[in-house]
Amino acid sequence: MLYCPKCQLLIDSDTDRCAACGSKKLREPGPDDPVLLLTADETKAIMIRSAFQENGIVFIEQDSGFGAPPSMLLGKPFYGNRNIFVAFRDLNTAKELLNGIGIADAEDAKLESSTPAPEEGSEPEEEPEPMSSRKRFFWRIVSAMMFILVVWGVVAAADFLANALKAFFTKGGF
Ligand SMILES: [Zn+2]
Repeated sequence: MLYCPKCQLLIDSDTDRCAACGSKKLREPGPDDPVLLLTADETKAIMIRSAFQENGIVFIEQDSGFGAPPSMLLGKPFYGNRNIFVAFRDLNTAKELLNGIGIADAEDAKLESSTPAPEEGSEPEEEPEPMSSRKRFFWRIVSAMMFILVVWGVVAAADFLANALKAFFTKGGF
């Protein structure tokens, strides 16, 4: 397990690049390194806050990705997604707490943070995927059948032509 100090993300050791920023300056995580635990909406964030406070887990909250600076300029509270960070040494306890209060584990947070698009944007794209691959499969079958038909047609035409020529020459020869 490696750690990107810039994004405060844990990276699987089978890659040497940060999934979010592409940086190669990764190192082993230290016990006090803040690690992105998950991205939560405001409702989840409230649950997480109280669970962590009860159990004495120190955490950091940040507005997630898009919208953060404009909402600060407008002086409005931004009820978007929030990135929640905990110290690396608290990571497993924090994950257990999340499971305890029924919030999906942190694996999703890693994926979400690597793609800046909001949740709503990525969800509908997953639906047409099996459809289009099924469609592709269908067209592959159709084109295979068409190919067979074409081949059959060519063979039949050649056969017919050969017979016609044979008949012509047979008649012509005699
Ligand atoms: Zn990074």
